[in-house]
Amino acid sequence: MGELDGLGEAVTGGLLARAVEPSAGETGDDGHTHEKSCLNCGTKLIGPFCAACGQKAHVHRSVRAFFQDFMAGLLNFEGKFWRTLPMLAWHPGEMTRRYIAGERARYISPIALYLFTVFAMFAALNFSGTFSPAGLAVDARAALQESISDDQRSLSRLEERRKAAAPGEVASLDRRIARRKKEIAEAQLALNTGKPFVAGDLDETPSWIRPFIENAKENPEVVALKVQEAASKYSWMLIPLSVPFMWMLFPFRRRYNSYDHTVFVTYSLSFMMMLVVIGSLLVAAGFTTLASCLFFVPPIHMYRHLKGAYQLGKWSAIFRATLLVGFACAAGGIFMTTAVAIGLS
Ligand SMILES: [Zn+2]
Repeated sequence: MGELDGLGEAVTGGLLARAVEPSAGETGDDGHTHEKSCLNCGTKLIGPFCAACGQKAHVHRSVRAFFQDFMAGLLNFEGKFWRTLPMLAWHPGEMTRRYIAGERARYISPIALYLFTVFAMFAALNFSGTFSPAGLAVDARAALQESISDDQRSLSRLEERRKAAAPGEVASLDRRIARRKKEIAEAQLALNTGKPFVAGDLDETPSWIRPFIENAKENPEVVALKVQEAASKYSWMLIPLSVPFMWMLFPFRRRYNSYDHTVFVTYSLSFMMMLVVIGSLLVAAGFTTLASCLFFVPPIHMYRHLKGAYQLGKWSAIFRATLLVGFACAAGGIFMTTAVAIGLS
């Protein structure tokens, strides 16, 4: 190690490092600390790590050490990540059971995985354009273009009929022609000015909803951004919302407590978000049919996860998984409606 530290000092500028470092409690030019007690908490050292707080006995004060700490953290996460992911996909019940039983250092903790997958999900959705403001704007323009060509076809059909029309039909045809022309002009204007436009009027919409829809028509990108913001900001709410439902699924099983349910729910939600990541990447790559097959995965995963984590029999697991799927749809629906309502407000 001494040799390597010499290398680090050469990189960071040997003289400067030597002038600064000794005051930090370092003993010599080798860059090591030789402490009798922990530098973090002061506990007397009896090994390479502090017995009280877990910090390393020797620390280094160099730029190289700074990046080594970062890399170690990253590799530790990555190592756990590749151990956690396959287990979560193929043996979710076993992993959840093991984590609850105490194998905590082995896997990524449920909440860390959850936060990571929320981040990954929104990144994937934006990348694939499935839910991104920019993607919505492109969709809106394409839809507008299409409706203009539809209207133009309809207009030329009407004009053909007008030529050979009986005198009684002329007035009605003229009205329809005028309406088509107006629609085309409006859509063309929307396309030219970049202001998206939605065909149809709002006369049948309750008056209190109208301002929200007008807002969505005027600024679809702002609304999409706000919906996305609300969904990511409140994504953690899905965990506390789901735990009471797990109590209801296991009313007479005292050996499973809220901690167990929270771990189960958080790992389960993380897996579902990973599916969204995979699905949106498949859509982005053009594998739409394959992506739609992913809709069958959640019920199967919930069944296997419940069966393994709570050590259920086949029928008991099928029964509870059915209830869980129904609940997940309801909770997901309520969550999305709330996010959209926040986005529109
Ligand atoms: Zn310590």
